Amino acid sequence: MTARIIDGIRIANDIKEEVRHQVDALKQQGITPGLAAILVGENPSSQIYVANKVKTCQALGLYSEKLEFPAAITTSQLLAQIWSLNERNDIDGILVQAPLPDHVDKRAVFNAVSPAKDVDGFHPQSVGNLCIGTESLQPCTPAGVIEMLRREGVTLAGQRAVVVGRSDIVGKPLALLLMHHHATVTICHSRTRDLPAVCREGDLLFAAMGRAAMITEEFVKPGALVIDVGINRLSDPAKVAAIFGHEPKRMEAFRKNGYTLIGDVNPTSIAPVASAYTPVPGGVGPLTIAMLMKNTVKAARLRRT
Ligand code: NDP
Repeated sequence: MTARIIDGIRIANDIKEEVRHQVDALKQQGITPGLAAILVGENPSSQIYVANKVKTCQALGLYSEKLEFPAAITTSQLLAQIWSLNERNDIDGILVQAPLPDHVDKRAVFNAVSPAKDVDGFHPQSVGNLCIGTESLQPCTPAGVIEMLRREGVTLAGQRAVVVGRSDIVGKPLALLLMHHHATVTICHSRTRDLPAVCREGDLLFAAMGRAAMITEEFVKPGALVIDVGINRLSDPAKVAAIFGHEPKRMEAFRKNGYTLIGDVNPTSIAPVASAYTPVPGGVGPLTIAMLMKNTVKAARLRRT
């Protein structure tokens, strides 16, 4: 038996189609949901992420605005930009693309975004609401994972869920959401002792460490569902061949680009043990953008209707 691959692209397309209808309905009331994306510096990955977000806004009928600033921008200059976006009625969502340069006070920046426009869910008020289970804007990646599981008909109540990674943007909020859905949750991190044994307790295993292909079969309980949040570049030809040698298309793209995208899970190793898993690319990633669009429309509806 080999594990089923969960199609994140299909699920994201379904969500985007629903968002498009919601945007059409809001437009009939004279409201065009708007998203402002702030990009600082010239990080190539960030540029691609922001371009994709803007493109998706356009495809779904949302208004979008990209604000680009040089890496030398100061915290107070960035705060002034955010305050001005907070005041604008045509902007419903404000996202600040991470990473920000080291000299910028990230907390001050995320705290400056009005909670009503906090489509990334990073403001302390959004974090607090998430913690106590009050309806609010939730961080896109963890919310996307939960939406994916719901649409796949996965039962969470009573299940043992193991989350590897405790960051503020993925691991921690994901663990909270799983708990709110009545899973029994274990959170792991770099100091966890005997990580493979703890992971093997999970009926559901979530990998969000940013460590290429670290999760192998010894981490997976037979029949477990494995959700791979990680996105890493792998450029070691031997490692790529060992994991993807049986995928001619992937190998051809690797030879052309010099790298391939891989998650925190080694799919070739876990496929014989798991019941299902999300691929990289094409798993959790597309859900993140779809949920950002959903959050922007939700923010518009809450603030303007
Ligand atoms: P962070 O670096 O902020 O956090 C990583 C977490 O993993 C930390 O809690 C760290 O532990 C833990 N960790 C690191 N190494 C190990 C290890 N060897 N064993 C156990 N735990 C470990 O990363 P993010 O949460 O921001 O991102 C995680 C991954 O998800 C990245 O690959 C990122 O690219 C990807 N990502 C994907 C998104 C998507 O749309 N699909 C969106 C956001 C992120 P400790 O706290 O002890 O240091």
